[in-house]
Amino acid sequence: MIDRINKLLAEIEGLKASKADEIEVLRIKYLSKKGEVSALMNDFRTVAAEQKREVGIKLNELKEKAQERINQLKESLENSQTVDETIDLTRTAAPIELGTRHPLSIVRKEICDIFRRLGFSIAEGPEIEDDWHVFSSLNFAEDHPARDMQDTFFIARSPEIVLRTHTSSVQTRVMEKQQPPIRIICPGRVYRNEAISYRAHCFFHQVEALYIDKNVSFADLKQALLFVAKELFGADTKIRLRPSYFPFTEPSAEMDISCNICGGKGCPFCKHTGWVEILGCGMVDPNVLENCGIDSKVYTGYALGMGVERITNLKYRVKDLRMFSENDQRFLDQFESAY
Ligand SMILES: [Zn+2]
Repeated sequence: MIDRINKLLAEIEGLKASKADEIEVLRIKYLSKKGEVSALMNDFRTVAAEQKREVGIKLNELKEKAQERINQLKESLENSQTVDETIDLTRTAAPIELGTRHPLSIVRKEICDIFRRLGFSIAEGPEIEDDWHVFSSLNFAEDHPARDMQDTFFIARSPEIVLRTHTSSVQTRVMEKQQPPIRIICPGRVYRNEAISYRAHCFFHQVEALYIDKNVSFADLKQALLFVAKELFGADTKIRLRPSYFPFTEPSAEMDISCNICGGKGCPFCKHTGWVEILGCGMVDPNVLENCGIDSKVYTGYALGMGVERITNLKYRVKDLRMFSENDQRFLDQFESAY
């Protein structure tokens, strides 16, 4: 028995382990319930009475030594981990790559921020709409070409459900629920039945603005347009209004800005006119106000709408509309610093 204990003592003195799982294997081998030390403890009963004292002392010594050695191994393992010289704590951390905003989101946010400074708040509505909100309430005649299946995605013919062709439907929804003063912008996606090419897509994005109150005049519209153009394209930007036609505004106009490439001198981009078209606008037709339960003898208002893709193209010279929806990271990465 004494020999066995001495042999184990020598073994324990020389134990080596450099990893946590190796130490655990040693702990189980010597100190667990089925380990070497326990086995000796069990055999202790068979030791002759006159040897019990000597063997008992030795056995306790073995148990303590084994525990001590295992603890030492654990400690040196922990120390070696904290002062491992192969780890350079002064190295810069690996950077986490940040995503970027989509160029259309950057421009939409910019437009919304400008209007917010003018006191407009954001209104939203459904992309799947009924005929009333998209067409009828906005003065579209029964035979208006926009109502043709060639131009609009109809989901159901009766009752007529369509993918909205403009965000003006949101304006109708707000006017139906709320009496003036109304000052809202409606950003959102719209759908048209177009063949997809570099200059047209079956979906695109608009921001429309609507302001209705007592004594709102065309002069208010023009001032707001000038402010928005200067904020978007720089303080030197000039605007010009050309008479136009929309079913829901009277009078109606289209707005050009002085070409932001040549500064108005004329270049291939502006087809040597010095002007580029950016949005449509006008005074809300009294019929539209009455359709939505607003007294057109008391209130007047203006509305304007612009394509977010169009503005983005002007600001960032994206020549192909399809790039906005192709999810090509080489394209999207270029807008990293834009916002
Ligand atoms: Zn130009």
